Amino acid sequence: MAVATGREYGLFIDGESAEPASGELRDLTEPATGEPLARAAMAGEQDVDRAVDAAQAALSGAWGKTPPNERSRLLHALADAIVANRKELAELEARNVGKAISSVKAELAVAVDHYRFFASAIASIAGRSNPVGGSLLFYSQKEPVGVCGQIVPWNYPFMMSTWKVAPALAAGCAIVLKPDPQTPLTALRLAELAVEVGLPPGVLNVVPGDGPTTGSYLVKHPGVDKVAFTGSTKTGGEIMRLCSEPIKRLTLELGGKSPNLLFADADLADAIPSSVWSIYYSAGQSCEARSRLLVEQSIYDDVVAQFAGHAGSLKVGDPLDPETQVGSLISTSHRDRVHGFVERGREEGAEVVTGGEAGDGKGAFYRPTVLAKVDNAMEVAQEEIFGPVVTVIPFADERDAVRIANESKYGLFATVWTGDPARGHRLARQIKSGMIGINTPYTAFPGIPFGGYKQSGFGRELGLETLELYLETKSVLVSTGAKPYNPFGL
Ligand code: NAD
Repeated sequence: MAVATGREYGLFIDGESAEPASGELRDLTEPATGEPLARAAMAGEQDVDRAVDAAQAALSGAWGKTPPNERSRLLHALADAIVANRKELAELEARNVGKAISSVKAELAVAVDHYRFFASAIASIAGRSNPVGGSLLFYSQKEPVGVCGQIVPWNYPFMMSTWKVAPALAAGCAIVLKPDPQTPLTALRLAELAVEVGLPPGVLNVVPGDGPTTGSYLVKHPGVDKVAFTGSTKTGGEIMRLCSEPIKRLTLELGGKSPNLLFADADLADAIPSSVWSIYYSAGQSCEARSRLLVEQSIYDDVVAQFAGHAGSLKVGDPLDPETQVGSLISTSHRDRVHGFVERGREEGAEVVTGGEAGDGKGAFYRPTVLAKVDNAMEVAQEEIFGPVVTVIPFADERDAVRIANESKYGLFATVWTGDPARGHRLARQIKSGMIGINTPYTAFPGIPFGGYKQSGFGRELGLETLELYLETKSVLVSTGAKPYNPFGL
């Protein structure tokens, strides 16, 4: 189904499209063209109240009694519905975010796998029993943590929603999901599909709205038991502060400045094009983009030249063209922010080898950019640029490489390219990040825990560990009556 331009999208509350109390409909533009795309309702406090009420009612009603095998069936049915509607979802996402449709199709395929993984992972939800002694019997049971406020950013609206929605539904929670106000469309469609396949009303509610108002109201809402946030480290800190007073459960997936270590003994024919992909896919707007390319000094000039050659030949343009490799950025204001980093990097002494300028057309395009002669202390090496900009930093030896890799406030991901397997494992121990790839650029797979060290956040997505973050453990202690346990001997 082709996406109709100009459609109006409501909020999604209690199983149906809902008008916002304020009546606000915001114009959304296509970042790649600057043309109008759709109008979307924006939620305010009263709408969040309605959504939280609906989620609580679902939990205390039918959803709270839905057995695990039925939750599993629903997750598979939702995966099937995403497959059946993949063309519409892909076009909607590509046009709303501006990203290349080839990337979006891959993201949708992985999202389907995530729903299927958590549909199966439900079987792992279990308590335990172990001997306590005397007449006492102990067992534990798992319970859904309750209503989850989930907040996701604009860079992968469908995928980030999936990473949060799938484990929460598997655990039996109810959800109020707040997408970024610029990119609410596929999350709203996801909620529609969920109800179409039989998810009870109120289990998944979607309330697009502004972060500092609607988002923080959702975080603080007394009816929300757990907050799961993906976004910038700065906002993550603010959300942590809001959660501290009511001691609200919280997981944070935050920013990154991930290193990509290239040793002279690596297979450069694989490592260089793979490294090009690992920064420029999604136009560099990925939390785990390998934005710091650390290169052994002896091959530095050669790698910079080859890397820049590949970067300069990437096809940048129309997100809906299947040949496009790099689409537009999310907005012209974000493009200008990215360019500001590049300009300041140039002033600090970095050399712009390729790129460093806006692309053609009135959309938010920015050419894949290579900054060489970068010192790890420069702003461009320390701050998350969140655009198609790689900083290339030389290192002397393995020890120096580890030092530079770890000199960052972030610790989300690292990739190591080496022909020495033992070195790969050594570095996996020494680099402080939640994930390491050795001789592969890929990052996120169903079942493999994804998340950060340091200011990249805490908690993990995509793995069995994630389910635990949506569950409470209740310990039950029972007297079997055989011989009462009487510690005071009374
Ligand atoms: P952001 O922090 O500005 O916004 C993210 C979300 O939080 C949006 O929905 C926004 O409306 C909301 N928000 C903003 N202020 C809020 C507040 N005070 N209270 C509650 N909600 C608020 O981030 P962004 O610029 O939209 O997204 C990019 C960031 O997300 C990058 O830093 C990127 O690294 C990070 N990210 C991390 C991961 C991961 O898994 N670690 C994945 C994707 C993106």
